[in-house]
Amino acid sequence: VTTIEARRGIPAARYVERLSRAARLVGERGAAAMLVGVGPDLRYLTGYAAMPLERLTMLVLVADGAPRLVVPRLEAAAARRSPAFEAGGVEMLTWEETDDPHALVARIVRDNPAGAASADGAARIAVSDRLWASHLLRLQRAIPGRAFESATSILRELRMTKDEDEVALLTLAAEAADRVVARIVAARLVGRTEADVASEVRERLLVEGHEVAEFAIVASGPNSASPHHEASDRVIAAGEPIVLDIGGALDGYGSDITRTLWVTGPGGVGPDEEFLRLFGLVRDAQRAATDAVRPGIPAEALDAVARQIITAGGYGPQFFHRLGHGIGLEGHEDPYLVAGNAEPVGAGSAFSIEPGIYVDGRYGARIEDIVVCGKDGPVVLNQAPRDLYVVSG
Ligand code: ZN
Ligand code: ZN
Ligand code: ZN
Repeated sequence: VTTIEARRGIPAARYVERLSRAARLVGERGAAAMLVGVGPDLRYLTGYAAMPLERLTMLVLVADGAPRLVVPRLEAAAARRSPAFEAGGVEMLTWEETDDPHALVARIVRDNPAGAASADGAARIAVSDRLWASHLLRLQRAIPGRAFESATSILRELRMTKDEDEVALLTLAAEAADRVVARIVAARLVGRTEADVASEVRERLLVEGHEVAEFAIVASGPNSASPHHEASDRVIAAGEPIVLDIGGALDGYGSDITRTLWVTGPGGVGPDEEFLRLFGLVRDAQRAATDAVRPGIPAEALDAVARQIITAGGYGPQFFHRLGHGIGLEGHEDPYLVAGNAEPVGAGSAFSIEPGIYVDGRYGARIEDIVVCGKDGPVVLNQAPRDLYVVSG
């Protein structure tokens, strides 16, 4: 049960801080402006979860200048309810149906002394990753002669380091997902289709406080060997595993948990020796990688800790995806725990740890938790037991 207190979310003043830090970074990085379209970056900076539309909504952050939110007239009421606007952190400019909003953005960029006065006129324009190409192409025409780059280079550091309120929301989301797992493993499974179980998962995620149930992977029998199998019309039988990987968003912040079940059925058909062995390797790899989390460890080193255990057990080629992904306002975001990413993991970053083994045509297993890198080590947000759930189903 979530209390009002626990669900206070992100205080409005936090958005004002984020906006001013971002504007400062725009200047420090030598960019003329950062243009943030609808999406997670806009939500991070303003609390405004706008609908992506052909009508342009755009936060314009000029170097060291006042943040401005360009909004279509008919969206203005919704934009005014955003915490950043309510806290006085952003000035709103509305445009009418016959106005050219891309020209309006160009004018704001040009009128800013920092933007206009860059000696060679070559100061770059940073653009949020989720901005539609249709908007970007018009902006490039409206602001000629500037190089455009991804705003992620500026925003990723801010977004990767979760503050305590963000961690609180991730924790609530994880706890809600844990409760859904507990209900599903206790439910009848044999004889139901994967799709039926998946729709129960989605319903329960909403009942437990998520505003959206984003995915419900119910992979039974041979389907469990496919990491991103969604849910099909396959009927769950006795004597086979189920990989259950579910998640959604609660107050904008994601949940993502995987547990592996073995359904014995009334006849009590338990897991075979090989399955127990590969599950044990996944369990050991998941635990060891989690224990290795501490500030400063390279992201790829965490992947290596898990991979070494699974490889030594003889299943290296059957663990063919990265160890994990960051999570926050997006289900998959920086940092990625993958070979080749030598970037150190920072305190406050949140990510999944989800090794798996997939034996094609037979079965597979995966365990996934969301973990926050604390100052002294891992803070594991999911608490649902990680052992193989052997259920009669
Ligand atoms: Zn995934
Ligand atoms: Zn997952
Ligand atoms: Zn995941």
